[in-house]
Amino acid sequence: MRPVRIILYRMKRKRIGILGGTFHPVHNGHLLLAEHARNVLSLDRVLFLIDRVPPHKEMSDGASTDERLKMLQLAVENRDGFEVETIELYREGKSYSYDTLRELNRRMPDSDLYFLMGSDMLRSFPTWYNPKGISELCTLVCTERLGQSGGEVDSAISLKALYGTRTILLDCVSELSSTEVRNSIANVLPITEMVPPSVAQEIYMRGLYQPEPIRSYYSKLQSSLTEKRLRHTAGVIQTAIELAVQYGADTKKAQIAALLHDCAKYVSENDLVRMSQDTEKILPVLHAEVGAVLASSVYGVNDPEILQAIRLHTTGDANMSLLDKIIYLSDMIEPSRSYPGVELLRSDGNIDDRILKALTHCVNYLEKKGGKVHPATYRAIQYLHQQEE
Ligand code: FE
Ligand code: FE
Repeated sequence: MRPVRIILYRMKRKRIGILGGTFHPVHNGHLLLAEHARNVLSLDRVLFLIDRVPPHKEMSDGASTDERLKMLQLAVENRDGFEVETIELYREGKSYSYDTLRELNRRMPDSDLYFLMGSDMLRSFPTWYNPKGISELCTLVCTERLGQSGGEVDSAISLKALYGTRTILLDCVSELSSTEVRNSIANVLPITEMVPPSVAQEIYMRGLYQPEPIRSYYSKLQSSLTEKRLRHTAGVIQTAIELAVQYGADTKKAQIAALLHDCAKYVSENDLVRMSQDTEKILPVLHAEVGAVLASSVYGVNDPEILQAIRLHTTGDANMSLLDKIIYLSDMIEPSRSYPGVELLRSDGNIDDRILKALTHCVNYLEKKGGKVHPATYRAIQYLHQQEE
């Protein structure tokens, strides 16, 4: 009789990381931490467990539940092994980590759970609901602040004695906080280094975390622009803020001018011609002049510098202000622009050299396709050449 060979396959248990938070908004620090934990602990997946926030607090902080969730989804999409977990988001009543972990454990019985947290959370762990139960369901993973111990080792030892808790300590890879991101937005500072590009775009498309009156500008603008135009506008805002910081212009004015620069984009041709004082009547540029009119009459912006930057964003003119140049350039080079030559216009340098290149690019393009160049654009180029001499 031939011997029967029995091969026993032992299923490899999956390792799942859980990163909880309000993600108000999600930022690069969250993503770095998840990436770091995945590498060090060989995690198969990381679940971004989004917390519930009382509705009144959400809006006073500047983004609704759906908006927080949308940003989180944008941040993790196309990142292998990162997923959004909404189990706590719509749960009625008080949400306990124990209940969540028990549910996740029930759903994934062949997985080991690793619950990521900061050192303050580790210290307060004994006050949580059912710490012993949590300790049986997962391993705690605590991040240590760089160079400053928060007593993590002592906490881990005492939790082990009290509840048999398994704790792993990880180096902290980022000190960034959501509060810092929100403050930067409110103070009109660039957030490019703080959040993924898709999240920055969402923030500037929807006016998230913005104070009044910016928020009210957004609600009006959202009904007059398409999604595509809002995406372009978001890119112009982001670029204008960065350029304003770089060249020392007023970032608040740059933000408002960028936000409203295309507010007349979808005004009918008849109305554009009717509302314009310009004798040239070149249709593709008229929305700039009419935009300045609407920015004042509909949105209530009275700052002449902002209105002028909106008015000149399609043509330029002699003696442009720094703000005019920033809005003109931002409109041409914002991240979603992809025409041939845009990279050259994005390269860094003196603002006058850059604006001259951008204006010249525009003239060459129009002349090549037989379009009419506005005399103001020629005046702008001539003026900048004279300045050079
Ligand atoms: Fe425009
Ligand atoms: Fe534009």
